Amino acid sequence: MFGSEFDELILNLKKIPGITKKQAEKIAFYILDLNFSELEKITTSLINVNKNLNKCITCNFISKNKQCDFCLDPSRDKQLLILENNNEVLKIENSSIFKGKYFIYNIKDEKEIENNIKKIIDFSKNIDEIIISLSPTIEGLAATNLLISKLNKEINKKISKISFGIPIGSSIDYMDSLSIKESINNRKEVK
Ligand SMILES: [Zn+2]
Repeated sequence: MFGSEFDELILNLKKIPGITKKQAEKIAFYILDLNFSELEKITTSLINVNKNLNKCITCNFISKNKQCDFCLDPSRDKQLLILENNNEVLKIENSSIFKGKYFIYNIKDEKEIENNIKKIIDFSKNIDEIIISLSPTIEGLAATNLLISKLNKEINKKISKISFGIPIGSSIDYMDSLSIKESINNRKEVK
């Protein structure tokens, strides 16, 4: 409607995970209204982040150096929590419920899967327990099963996966069949 430049911006913004067409349009209109110095600040930040921040060579978390602060911190517990992205790491870290180390295993990046499994095996040498916490989606469950079978063959450490089940405040009536199946599979003996 506003020419190919605008359409191209929308197409590029839509590549950001979680951004819908409507949200992309909102951002595009915001950019359209900016004056040049405001726009320059945003583009400089984008370039700086992309240029100066990398993935930690050990755990894939965002880092300014070769290794991230979590991997370099000897005081952290010898537990390794496997998550899917940087956001999840920050969320768990801010909740203060976990004091171990992290590994980012992007299940959508198929080219990196073998390499990531190798990295986890190397990482596990200094770890007592690996906790797998991938999404409870069909993809995530398949990735979890693959990871468990590969790690079981290679390492002799405790491996667990987080349990998914009935959310607090919900009931089976409102649950999808995958959640119910996982709740039953992850049941705990009570006597
Ligand atoms: Zn790291």
